Amino acid sequence: MAEPYLADPKETLAIVRQYDFAFQKRFGQNFLIDPKVLKRILDAAEVTKDDFVLEIGPGIGTMTQFLAERAREVTAVEIDHNLIPILKETLKDWSNVEIIEGDILKTDLNRISQEKNGGRPIKVVANLPYYITTPIIMSLFEDHVPLESITLMVQKEVADRMQASPGGKDYGALSLSVQYYAKASIAALVPPNCFIPRPKVGSSVIHLEKYKEPPVDVRDEALFFKVIRASFNQRRKTLVNGLKNSGFFMLSRDELLEVMEACHLPENIRGEALSLPQFAELSNVLGEKISKR
Ligand code: SAM
Repeated sequence: MAEPYLADPKETLAIVRQYDFAFQKRFGQNFLIDPKVLKRILDAAEVTKDDFVLEIGPGIGTMTQFLAERAREVTAVEIDHNLIPILKETLKDWSNVEIIEGDILKTDLNRISQEKNGGRPIKVVANLPYYITTPIIMSLFEDHVPLESITLMVQKEVADRMQASPGGKDYGALSLSVQYYAKASIAALVPPNCFIPRPKVGSSVIHLEKYKEPPVDVRDEALFFKVIRASFNQRRKTLVNGLKNSGFFMLSRDELLEVMEACHLPENIRGEALSLPQFAELSNVLGEKISKR
């Protein structure tokens, strides 16, 4: 084992030059160069020597070095073939790290958690490529990977959406989907100058503590997520129009209004005013109505 040494702009630039590495915009490559931020991420993730950690997109291995120091074992999945020889070099002093070359969205994470952690819940830690933040988070939840927590650097605006409450401009399908699976809290705000190259927008570290059971009773998850999507597809429309126009539910406007009335929702309410428990109730009552047709 060695001291992590990469969280320093000079070291990062030296590696980039040594390997003649060309940053790829299409892979969302902004490498962290601030040790204080790295420490904040690891503290938020509460990584200990008992933990197996999955890292998504290790880059040149900056956060990986820190994770390897604190965790029992780390597996890092990196899509960019050109980073693999660099990672072999920068991580050679840590024997508890495995690098997998591949696309995280096509990687069998259930198998990794089984092989590396006996199927027990794992911690995911990442400075995410911003272009696929939402698909990565949703696939971690929806593929039912055994998870304890996910701690991520994301675009500030996306972190705000994940932890937003009903009524505000940030509240939407992402807020509800994330809050159905996890308790979300923002652990740090990170300015663009903490990365090479600098992103155009500010970033936040968000910590998602996975619930053992969802906080609301949903009888049909697929229907619940359809109701959420339909309600936010046309933000300016009322809830009943959003549900009707989606074409998902095969119910008349009057039938949809009956469902809403049974849930004590006024006719002119918009989707953005409903809380997570209200969406759960709406989808349960809607499901009953559809099954009786
Ligand atoms: N972890 C490094 C750091 O903090 O300095 C790099 C973070 S950079 C924002 C995102 C990383 O994710 C890049 O290394 C990029 O090549 C990688 N990446 C992008 N898309 C990916 C995908 N679909 N699967 C795995 N890695 C991906």
